[in-house]
Amino acid sequence: MSVKVRFAPSPTGKLHVGNVRTALVNWMFAKGQGGAFVLRIDDTDLARSTPEFEQGIEDDLVWLGLVWDERYNQSKRFDRYEEAAARLKAAGRLYPCYETADELDRRRKVQLSRGLPPVYDRAALQLTEAEKAAYEAEGRRPHWRFKLDGKRVAWEDLSRGHAEVDTASMSDPVLIREDGLFLYTLPSVVDDIDMAITHVIRGEDHVTNTGAQIEIFEALGGPAPDFAHMPLLVGEDGSALSKRLGSLSIAEMRDQGYEPIAITSHLGRIGTSDPLEVAPSVEALGESFSFSKMGRSPARYDTADLDRLNAQALHAMDYATARPRLADLGSDMGETVWNTLRPNLQKFADVVDLERIISGPVNPVIEDPAFAAAALEVLPATLDADAWSIWTNAVKERTGAKGKALFMPLRHILTGQAHGPDMASLVPLIGRERIVKRLAGETA
Ligand code: GLU
Repeated sequence: MSVKVRFAPSPTGKLHVGNVRTALVNWMFAKGQGGAFVLRIDDTDLARSTPEFEQGIEDDLVWLGLVWDERYNQSKRFDRYEEAAARLKAAGRLYPCYETADELDRRRKVQLSRGLPPVYDRAALQLTEAEKAAYEAEGRRPHWRFKLDGKRVAWEDLSRGHAEVDTASMSDPVLIREDGLFLYTLPSVVDDIDMAITHVIRGEDHVTNTGAQIEIFEALGGPAPDFAHMPLLVGEDGSALSKRLGSLSIAEMRDQGYEPIAITSHLGRIGTSDPLEVAPSVEALGESFSFSKMGRSPARYDTADLDRLNAQALHAMDYATARPRLADLGSDMGETVWNTLRPNLQKFADVVDLERIISGPVNPVIEDPAFAAAALEVLPATLDADAWSIWTNAVKERTGAKGKALFMPLRHILTGQAHGPDMASLVPLIGRERIVKRLAGETA
């Protein structure tokens, strides 16, 4: 049986780190198993879904390297859901209810005040045909609930181990709203059967739904797939990330200059036993992924970790990869310059400022003009790879400065900054002419 998984985002907003982690784990699992990854746009809610959000989801996934093997829109499959609903109705598993939201709310409050669980009491099952007709005549439209078996539904969860949900303690879920809208529960099961999905991988907030959905799989005669419910993301401080997810969109992170491999390495490895290091490629992440590495504890999303991985990705980026992106930034720096600058990058675009250290203009920072003059006097004629050590030895001899007191002023004068790339590599690249000017205090 070949593995087939799906990612089913609703195009009602932008992708954020929470749903991308779900997409990524699905993708990694599929690729690691030589299986297929399905993108299924959950756009049954026609009023809230937009083509712009749908396009945004695709752009983000492609940018992250999470390319799909098959793609569907649920909005094109209403006939399949109608057909499934008709079968469930015929089997007595889908029944019409006429309560308004207010009526349901009042009933829940009464139950709670009596210390009872706020479970739907199935009053609608007692309605006679005449009573239903009377509601319809009043202009009420029914919503439709799935009649749960009310039993312990058990499965072996790839992430959680043995899992059980007691559907007797749940309200019969509404599958179709009074306005005819299919909520995600039924379309999801119908599609999982039609598309031969083998594994449903999603967040642990779906565990209860899974109890109901396994019953729907059974009622529709399809085999239920395997399930994996991942621990949810938490923030740096351990608190749930759910409320902050809106501000953690992938589009925004792209604008902020994060590398896709840093995002996928972070989201693919938090909450697992793998070290939190950047992977050479998203494919490599897939090859090394296994649910056995995923713990039960929540996955900690930490921007500081992401920043570290982002820098790691840039420090390891070879010139061939960097070159077209450098060209986009208007730079044609060669390989030597790239290799000199990349260890100091936090974000790719930093390279523009760093390159200015070499090609100027730099405003030299000179604290001691006598020191600068002495350094100029002993500047080697040829600035090759050894020039920095020859020169600094000579400056040390001439001025008596050593250690930080020797290197820091030279860095300040030559680069105008206190930190930066390796001086030995910079010196030949800056070139004698500019160095002479900078030592003389000129902007060059
Ligand atoms: N559109 C649903 C969601 O994002 C899909 C859930 C599922 O993966 O089954 O919650």
